[in-house]
Amino acid sequence: MIALLHPECNLRHKAGIIDAIQQAGLRARIEPHDEGERIGIPGAGEELAGTLEALPGVRGILHQKASYGLVSRLDSEPPSQPRVGSIRFGGPELVIISGPCAVESEAQILLAARAARAAGVQMLRGGAFKPRTSPYSFQGLGHAGLELLAQAGQEVGLPVVTEVVDPGDVELVARYADMLQIGARNMQNFSLLRAVGELGKPVLLKRGMMSTVKEFLLAAEYIVGGGNPEVVLCERGIRSFDSATRNIFDVTAIPLLKQETHLPVIADPSHACGIRSLVPHISRAAIAAGADGLIVEMHPDPDQALSDGAQSLTPSGLNELMQSLPAVAGSVGRRLSS
Ligand code: PEP
Ligand code: MN
Repeated sequence: MIALLHPECNLRHKAGIIDAIQQAGLRARIEPHDEGERIGIPGAGEELAGTLEALPGVRGILHQKASYGLVSRLDSEPPSQPRVGSIRFGGPELVIISGPCAVESEAQILLAARAARAAGVQMLRGGAFKPRTSPYSFQGLGHAGLELLAQAGQEVGLPVVTEVVDPGDVELVARYADMLQIGARNMQNFSLLRAVGELGKPVLLKRGMMSTVKEFLLAAEYIVGGGNPEVVLCERGIRSFDSATRNIFDVTAIPLLKQETHLPVIADPSHACGIRSLVPHISRAAIAAGADGLIVEMHPDPDQALSDGAQSLTPSGLNELMQSLPAVAGSVGRRLSS
């Protein structure tokens, strides 16, 4: 439910409205909307709707069709454009993120950062806490990996994104990262979603490998409803019967999400297909379908990578990909950052 406020709703009115919401055991967040303001109230029932409707300062109550009312797209509102420093997601310029699956060493992440910078991407990625299917696989360097990633990003002048897998690590990761990634395996880790909802930093939310579009949007609703509107969605492929590729890239989800939500949507072609030679094709398909950017794995020496080497581009592969994107971007009215 969303309560729309009168343009003249004053501080005393707002205090009364927030009090009523809190009395019902719910949380309130006031945000700008059209000419006035609005309050998104996830979980509100009919009784609270009646109470609020009668309060001074309330212009009306919106009972959304979708259960993901805070992230759903209203025709009257422009799409949101979360920022990471000077980088804006969802604007005319695409945001390309690249770097290794995992931070492995100081030398490796520095080489990757320099290659990413040289290729002209806008952000550096690298996992420090890795959610691995096997407990025997490389689990990431943890805190040390965060330090190395932040250092490498600073050295080449690129903001960094890295995954957080434990609600208890959110504060630590936020100290080093410019954007926090919630991975596919944690898309429905509700305590983690709540924890990043309380954060003042943007979140990259990846679609679960077996999640529907609706479940994806509801996961985003947890973060936005928790008080953090800076969310970017990422389609990264879903499971299918066919083991020929790691996942199936759901290209349909991109324009569908862009219709359903005001949040930006980027694509991860690497985890979507799992095969290096296919990554450039999926990247271009994603841009053509309307994606606001890409997150692409690149490793200075993919054959030696401790994780996801088979799907990682080489630095020259990333260069070639970047050269091929402007034409596709231009055909759908977008451009790469100059
Ligand atoms: C990753 O980005 O390295 C990763 C683990 O991705 P996903 O959560 O999409 O599998
Ligand atoms: Mn990976």
